[in-house]
Amino acid sequence: MATVKVLPKPTEDLNPFRIAMRQFDNAADKLNLHRGLREVLRSPRRALSLSLPIKLDDGSIKVFQGFRVQHNNARGPCKGGIRYHPNVSFDEVQALASWMTWKCATVNIPFGGAKGGIICDPKHLSKNELERLTRRYAYEISDFIGPDRDIPAPDVYTDAQVMAWIMDTYSMTRGHSVPGVVTGKPTFLGGSLGRNEATARGCVYVVRCACEVLKINYKRATAVIQGFGNAGSIAAELLHKIGMTVIAVSDSNGGIVNQKGLDIPKVVAHKEKTGSVDRFPGSKPISSEELLELQCDVLVPAALENQITITNAHRIRAKIIAEAANGPTTPNADRVLYEKGVFLLPDILANAGGVTVSYFEWVQDLQELFWDVDEVHHKMEKIMGKAFSDVHKAAKDHRVDMRTGAYILAIDRVAKATESRGIWP
Ligand code: NAD
Repeated sequence: MATVKVLPKPTEDLNPFRIAMRQFDNAADKLNLHRGLREVLRSPRRALSLSLPIKLDDGSIKVFQGFRVQHNNARGPCKGGIRYHPNVSFDEVQALASWMTWKCATVNIPFGGAKGGIICDPKHLSKNELERLTRRYAYEISDFIGPDRDIPAPDVYTDAQVMAWIMDTYSMTRGHSVPGVVTGKPTFLGGSLGRNEATARGCVYVVRCACEVLKINYKRATAVIQGFGNAGSIAAELLHKIGMTVIAVSDSNGGIVNQKGLDIPKVVAHKEKTGSVDRFPGSKPISSEELLELQCDVLVPAALENQITITNAHRIRAKIIAEAANGPTTPNADRVLYEKGVFLLPDILANAGGVTVSYFEWVQDLQELFWDVDEVHHKMEKIMGKAFSDVHKAAKDHRVDMRTGAYILAIDRVAKATESRGIWP
């Protein structure tokens, strides 16, 4: 009897830091970057690994693990968010830190890259426990951060309140208030108007640029969004507001779909009331994985890494993918999508509106002079528009996909800064 050969399922390396290195190498090859400089730009400058003992509300003690990685400061102080999530790992934080370096260079703001994280499930911590954990972490990193060294910001499951605690703890170690040590603070503590919606607003802005290139009328277009937090829910609201039909959204509890369009302000209210988009009246349930494969014009992954992989890339039916999340697409999936003709707006461009307005917040804190929201929106959109056309041009000139185009632009800028500063001693 003939035996049937079962082919192994295609698999790929999903380690985020090795993925970040592959993305870097891919563009560095096109730039013919020499070996020494490549090694400098690949290596994180400094990495902290911390044990954080916290007294829980029941009197017991638990030690959490946290990280802060400063990837590069050739073009300015390091900049990057802090993530609280059970799946945080050192390699994830290293990857996110390096993506920050390339993101700041893509939009040409004077920052390097950093990222922090604590392995924890904030959904299972009380507000007091979260405050103690945050303050302990802030204290442990206080010698390494500062307005001219490294400026943290919110990321997954951290918010303006967490930033206020970090600012207060850091200020205690210095003996005076230092608002410029973090961005994404409450506006009454030196936060910038327009920061909360900046990531989503920047993302929607470049989606409109992509629609223009592809000659898609965005008012007749459909959109699908994975993740309904700061980036995803506000992107959904803004896309809805400009006339796009948002047909599906999801969060960590699952997704909802309605081919005729979801009433996004009502979905937001439903999430506020019930804690999830799940069971929104008039919608059908859909899993977060199935949602990615829906036919649509614009797909916005706005949750976590490695959502579009070699396994599902060939089933993606979107014309544009706008990566509000960091690292949602693997390098193998990138290749499949490029061959299929999908127009992908890479994370280091698509979600850079957030760090751009963080930069504005830092500038306003340093000069103690605050701008109105129209000024913030206008300045951010100017930067995002320029970054989009720079990346698009680099991609066309080098005949590569938009991600590689963005990396070519960014690496070239950081390499020039590094070379002209020189390697010391
Ligand atoms: P957030 O904590 O506000 O929201 C995260 C959302 O993702 C939540 O709705 C959560 O339920 C959902 N989620 C988690 N796992 C999911 C899954 N498997 N399927 C579907 N949804 C899932 O975080 P955020 O700030 O919106 O960050 C989201 C992404 O955007 C991250 O990759 C982050 O690094 C990136 N980002 C955020 C900012 C910012 O300014 N907030 C800036 C740049 C990039």
